[in-house]
Amino acid sequence: MWDPFVRCHMARSSTVVVAGSGFGGLSSACYLADAGFDVTVLEKNSELGGRASVLEADGFRFDMGPSWYLMPDVFERFFGHFGREPSDFYELEPLDPHYRVFFKDGDRVDITADRAEMRTLFESYETGAGEALDSYLETSEEHYEISMDQFIYTDRPRLRDWIDLDVMRAAPIGLKLLGTMDGYVSNYFDHPKLQQIMQYTLVFLGGAPHNTPAIYNMMSHVDFNLGVYYPEDGLSSVVNACVELGETLGVEYVTDAEVTEIINRRDGFTVESNAGDFDVEFVVSNADYAHTEQELLPEHERQYDEAYWNSRTYSPSAFLLYLGVEGDVEPLEHHTLVLPTDWDRHFEQIFEDPAWPEDPAYYLCVPSKTDDDVAPEGHSNLFALVPIAPGLDDTDAVRTWYRDIVLDDIAAHTGVDLRDRIVFEEQFSVTEFTERYNSMNGTALGLAHTLRQTALFRPPHRSKSCPGLYFTGSYTTPGIGVPMCLVSGEHTATALIDDTA
Ligand SMILES: Cc1cc2nc3c(=O)[nH]c(=O)nc-3n(C[C@H](O)[C@H](O)[C@H](O)COP(=O)(O)OP(=O)(O)OC[C@H]3O[C@@H](n4cnc5c(N)ncnc54)[C@H](O)[C@@H]3O)c2cc1C
Repeated sequence: MWDPFVRCHMARSSTVVVAGSGFGGLSSACYLADAGFDVTVLEKNSELGGRASVLEADGFRFDMGPSWYLMPDVFERFFGHFGREPSDFYELEPLDPHYRVFFKDGDRVDITADRAEMRTLFESYETGAGEALDSYLETSEEHYEISMDQFIYTDRPRLRDWIDLDVMRAAPIGLKLLGTMDGYVSNYFDHPKLQQIMQYTLVFLGGAPHNTPAIYNMMSHVDFNLGVYYPEDGLSSVVNACVELGETLGVEYVTDAEVTEIINRRDGFTVESNAGDFDVEFVVSNADYAHTEQELLPEHERQYDEAYWNSRTYSPSAFLLYLGVEGDVEPLEHHTLVLPTDWDRHFEQIFEDPAWPEDPAYYLCVPSKTDDDVAPEGHSNLFALVPIAPGLDDTDAVRTWYRDIVLDDIAAHTGVDLRDRIVFEEQFSVTEFTERYNSMNGTALGLAHTLRQTALFRPPHRSKSCPGLYFTGSYTTPGIGVPMCLVSGEHTATALIDDTA
């Protein structure tokens, strides 16, 4: 069998194809090019950025995927590795409030950076909750710092990597946090609305309070303390920054280049694509892991069988409505959540009992509140995102029915009636996630962060069955979200560089 370890003398001029240009792919391409590799990124679609695509039409511009710029420290670290900083590429605007929540009983709250204001808000729901918030956030900051240092920035793919003095020191905290988020949050807050506020960020991780380990309470430090930002021109400016950085390092990008087969020639790979064949020594796949293994590799080079992929817990898919509307959309904020007071049914309809949620919890994003350039004058751009079960049937008839439910719900619970002033509309759901990104069951985010799919229980960066093939992106560690995928790209590149050193 071909062994990449014996090819060490060639490493620094070795050729690599990165299949897929999501943040994991863009990041690993930069690290590899910086280490001297000759890197070509092959992207199926006509634009780079993966799920961070952009939709432009009729004077409106929408970030189609990520819209929350969280964990600015991770972006600083990424660009810092190359002697650059985010502000070399884009400006950040802090959002105030971070976001607004409409509860469907008519109540509404703003989450801001002002701790005193937040304490008063929490106290107004429950005696003692102001103090509990301080304590919760203090602990969540501590967990964030330990987790970033020990488990996010440090890749630990093997069991033996966990037998380390620092991990042992962190272990008591880790073990305490193997319970679920709903249990953990209820130790601090009794009021269901406060519990919802502390738990909603889990949706960013593709999970639900009952199936996500409590360690992810660190997301509240991200949410409350580190702040929520808007990069000038939207998240696409972060994609452009990564691409520009890669170009300066020598990365070549080829779009409309869907990889159709990865052939292991033993002395390297032939990567077959719509844009031609590429003979290289190494391959990094940023395409969905399940797609790469099941569609691009022969059976004997797959690490997992079909049963494995069918038994995973996938993150939700989404029903997305991109809307250009006349006039403004007060009182929506840049980020707005609309939550039913009892949301258990919605989570059940995502994870246990797949169905279109009849009383949805959803997210509305209005970048035109912050950025004048994303909608024509006198108009607003807005997208609605309803998390739904992956694999749901999303026929035209179902979408038409559901679109009306969502628009009626927005009017009823936020007071913003969009129905008669929509001048542009596009939908994106299970079918588009599957077709545009080769996503398994149309999942929007990949493998959920359940306990059994966290840390070393996620699929590895190095293929165990096909030496020379590596994986990066949200299916691998550390996991879902733009910052995590940037880190994933670093881990994957480090694995390849180490293997050839
Ligand atoms: C609607 C939505 C909202 C989100 N909101 C946020 C947010 O606010 N903040 C945040 O941090 N994260 C958010 N996320 C999550 C975040 O966008 C993702 O976790 C991250 O962008 C995934 O990056 P990735 O590296 O896994 O690659 P992906 O973005 O999944 O990209 C993979 C790429 O591979 C390409 N590909 C697939 N098959 C092939 C093939 N055969 N050949 C070549 N190319 C191929 C695809 O076209 C795609 O471009 C959101 C995601 C979605 C969908």
